[in-house]
Amino acid sequence: MADHTISGDCAICGIYRYSLHRDHIVPRWKFKYGLVEGDPTDPANFQYLCANCHEDKTREEFLSDEYRRIAVARVGLYTDEYRERQRQDRLGKQHTSEARAKIGAYARNRPPEVREKLRQGALKQHRGGIV
Ligand SMILES: [Zn+2]
Repeated sequence: MADHTISGDCAICGIYRYSLHRDHIVPRWKFKYGLVEGDPTDPANFQYLCANCHEDKTREEFLSDEYRRIAVARVGLYTDEYRERQRQDRLGKQHTSEARAKIGAYARNRPPEVREKLRQGALKQHRGGIV
């Protein structure tokens, strides 16, 4: 994790920084899930990175196929079924016929400028939910 006490050159981009983050060269989850053997806190597994490079490296690790496989196996994240379920949940909340009827009844009794605002809001929701 972050350790803000060390100054020096980032091990990736080489830019001097007043504070560097301590990075696990081989990320801890690879040890945790048995992809590599050894001790993640071994000093040989540490390097010091600027915040930007640390963030980029961490993001790439979590977007890797290796991590994705673990995530899918463990909690079912990121699968197409999971995404579809999320999408259905969202639609269910925003676009039931009862909800639409309620909004419609409310809108019909408002002045035109309010109706226009409601319409725009509904469109925004529509774009976020469907498509
Ligand atoms: Zn850097």
